[in-house]
Amino acid sequence: METATANFDIQLTTKSRINEFDANNIVFGTQFTDHMLIADCIDGEWQTPKILPYGEIAYNPAIASLHYGQSIFEGMKAFKGQNGEINMFRPLENFKRFNISADRMCMAQVPEEIFIGGLEELLRIDAAWVPEGEDNSLYLRPFMFASDVYLGVRPSQNYRFMVIMAPAGKYYATPPKVKVETEYIRAAEGGVGYAKCAGNYASSLYPAKLAAAQGYTQLLWTDAKEHKYFEESGTMNVMFVIDGKLVTPQTSTTILKGITRDSLLQLARSKGIEVEERRVSVEEVIAGIQSGKVTEIFGAGTAVVISPFAAIGYEGSDYVLPEITEKSVASQLKKTLDEIRQGKIEDTFGWVWTVK
Ligand SMILES: *Cc1c(COP(=O)(O)O)cnc(C)c1O
Repeated sequence: METATANFDIQLTTKSRINEFDANNIVFGTQFTDHMLIADCIDGEWQTPKILPYGEIAYNPAIASLHYGQSIFEGMKAFKGQNGEINMFRPLENFKRFNISADRMCMAQVPEEIFIGGLEELLRIDAAWVPEGEDNSLYLRPFMFASDVYLGVRPSQNYRFMVIMAPAGKYYATPPKVKVETEYIRAAEGGVGYAKCAGNYASSLYPAKLAAAQGYTQLLWTDAKEHKYFEESGTMNVMFVIDGKLVTPQTSTTILKGITRDSLLQLARSKGIEVEERRVSVEEVIAGIQSGKVTEIFGAGTAVVISPFAAIGYEGSDYVLPEITEKSVASQLKKTLDEIRQGKIEDTFGWVWTVK
């Protein structure tokens, strides 16, 4: 696995904050590593990327992204391997998806040597921040926003690509109760659901707030036309175990193509578990929970890997799922995926990218 190398302007911090970091007490998203990457695309030309001490940066208040939302991101993780090496998980998939999101939002394409090369450079410099420990990782956040100083609505000429990194520990403590959303939508055909663009997350906050007031920690999105078919859950893909088969909605323009989703499907197939990518109706799932055919529902994404649901709420009633055990499909898949990500078992899929 080789990526052409870009030159980086590197300015190292004189005051590392690594001593303030406690790997046993990580509060996700609040603490960032010592350095960050900034690369500017000016009139279509990528400038030499810079690695700088993490910190605040000044902006002109008229930059386009603040007003019209040309802003995209990725979410990835790096892990400490068994021999102290640093591994990323399928980073080329994030790189490709980033440029698919960029394309949909009329933004500049980021070259591989800046995206992958930048992550590698940053990880080498901030290697001490990749935490050891079972459920620990370093969350990597590449993002890009329009930086034209102009208040007209048009695609920006200038973009800023950045990477920041934040230590991550274990996610949800208890399985969430999830509400089937039948009024608001996350995405509609022809829209931007398949892009990891900032606006998708802003628009999900209001329905999530209403659901929270009703006691639900997460949403299960349904299709925009009929509210009959499942799409995703919160910011994760959703999977069902129906009659022992792993079933998930097929990807479309309204569903984000998760790398965890793809990895779990490949893993399931390799374990001899039957996989179906198809439409899954709310009706089928509710009836299936009641008859015992639907044994598991879980969200899948980089942040959590797998988040099994305790119950789903639909039109005012809660439908409780059986408790997850070690034998559950979710537990088996999560265990294997974790072991591959952490370099504990052989990576027969070629998913682990070791930083040189
Ligand atoms: C990021 C994201 C996912 C999960 O994708 P992964 O590549 O598995 O992390 C699923 N749905 C939405 C809406 C997302 O933003």
